[in-house]
Amino acid sequence: MVKKRISKNEVKIKMDEFFSGIGNKSSNEVKKIKKLVMSANIPLKEKRKLFCKKCLKPYKNPKIRIKRGMKVIICPSCGFMSHWKLRKLNGD
Ligand SMILES: [Zn+2]
Repeated sequence: MVKKRISKNEVKIKMDEFFSGIGNKSSNEVKKIKKLVMSANIPLKEKRKLFCKKCLKPYKNPKIRIKRGMKVIICPSCGFMSHWKLRKLNGD
């Protein structure tokens, strides 16, 4: 098997395509793209919030709670809770 080298830019395009339609993806596909993106040293940033950190399933209708300046997302599949700091609009 020939291993095809793909450029960082190509990975970025793939990543954007993938995440724009993440609702139909499986956890296995998330795992694959995550590996690819990480191997190219590209930060996932906000895209990390689109899938569960634990079971890697894309969030479809997650329960979201706001608690003390933190956004809590509860995975509908495994129940894992992700905490995200709420950012000010002008911050960063
Ligand atoms: Zn989960």
